[in-house]
Amino acid sequence: MRRQRCAKIIATLGPSSSSAEIIKKLFLTGVDVFRLNFSHGSYKEHEKHYNIIRDLEKKLNRPIGILMDLQGPKLRIGTFKKPIMLHEGMTFTFDTDPSPGDKTRVYLPHPEIFKAIKREALLLLDDGKIRLHVRKSTPLKIETTVLIGGPLSDRKGLNVPSVTLPISAMTEKDREDLVFGLKLGVDWVALSFVQHARDVQEARRLIGDKAGIISKLEKPSAIEHLNEIVHKSDAIMVARGDLGVEMLPEEVPSIQKQIIRTCRKAGKPVVIATQMLDSMIKLPTPTRAEASDVATAIYDGADAVMLSAESALGNYPVESVAIMDRIITRVEEDPFYRQMQEASIPKPETTRSGAITAAARQVAHTIQAAAIVTFTSTGNTTFRAARERPEVPILAITPELKTARKLSILWGVHAVTSSDVKSFSDAVESACRMAKNEGFANPGEYIVVTAGVPFRISGSTNILRIASIEPS
Ligand code: PGA
Ligand code: MN
Repeated sequence: MRRQRCAKIIATLGPSSSSAEIIKKLFLTGVDVFRLNFSHGSYKEHEKHYNIIRDLEKKLNRPIGILMDLQGPKLRIGTFKKPIMLHEGMTFTFDTDPSPGDKTRVYLPHPEIFKAIKREALLLLDDGKIRLHVRKSTPLKIETTVLIGGPLSDRKGLNVPSVTLPISAMTEKDREDLVFGLKLGVDWVALSFVQHARDVQEARRLIGDKAGIISKLEKPSAIEHLNEIVHKSDAIMVARGDLGVEMLPEEVPSIQKQIIRTCRKAGKPVVIATQMLDSMIKLPTPTRAEASDVATAIYDGADAVMLSAESALGNYPVESVAIMDRIITRVEEDPFYRQMQEASIPKPETTRSGAITAAARQVAHTIQAAAIVTFTSTGNTTFRAARERPEVPILAITPELKTARKLSILWGVHAVTSSDVKSFSDAVESACRMAKNEGFANPGEYIVVTAGVPFRISGSTNILRIASIEPS
């Protein structure tokens, strides 16, 4: 089975999408990558979902991507004797005393913040609903004035947008979760609240080549270090939920476009996430503004769009995927979409693989080939091919199931596994057979094949071949 669109769909699993039956439906409707969100759910649940996906993969003989999303250093306040109400102009203090708070103070269990915070900084509570202005801070106390009040209760989230915090993007919990997820065999790991490239490097030391790393951009400090973070990551997520709390709502659209542009230039896959079809948590159809939001992400060149609460907790998980699939398909039929993709093709890398993949797009265009077929073991050549945004689908053939799974997030890529090919003529024959079997080319049509000879040496792509599909 093949999809008729290039951009991909990621869906988060949760209580609304927990059974084998619904996960199968979600996949058949259009999900390319499933997200296990480690901010919620138990190991038992994540493992159950993982196994359901791998079973399904076997039954349908289609590699499916699995992304684990680490919670990251989400800051939370302590508890209260009873819920309180903050009003504009009141004084409110954060301190290091773990006893339950009242309407004048609360415990803040993150000592490092006391040192990093400066006068005039803005503090946001409960997803930005409450805004506080810092008047004074010492290593033991942060004294604030309430700018916008509201009800406040135990363990609500705290965002500190203007300050780069001296904390790693990985907490103790994240490290434990990561060990668990890597042991399961996830294909991608998403890091939350990345602030600088060091966070990505730290994660890379723990993950090695066991999974790809997606940096979630959701803090102003990440935007300040955008280029370095993109450079060090395997992919990027525009995490608009927290980004929209940490920055003003009017900033988010331009930043989203800036991030997509930066990723396209660097040839890194980019995912747009959060609230894309938010009203579908409750209703079976999206607002027209939401449809437009998904379409904009696709026009701008995103590799994938993501569902969170819509598929995890909503009443219409399958319908949400179906709508996303239809919006993407419709955008990709628009000639203007093609023009926009072509305008953003990055310069080829000055390597043999870079040159061959760029040439493959041009050759495919000139001879109106039916598909580009890339042979890859690590997936690197296919990452390059996807960044070229060719007009024709990319069929990736790899001996590694792990690689095929990882490639499922990439724009325009359909990955299949095959046993090792020994020679280039083997490869061409196998490419023609697979292109035909997987529904990418008919007898009489051309395919453009890229490969590295000798086989199985990473970065060795050095051959481009036009092959024609023989009548069977
Ligand atoms: P989250 O990340 O769902 O883990 O918070 C996405 C976002 O912040 O948008
Ligand atoms: Mn987030």
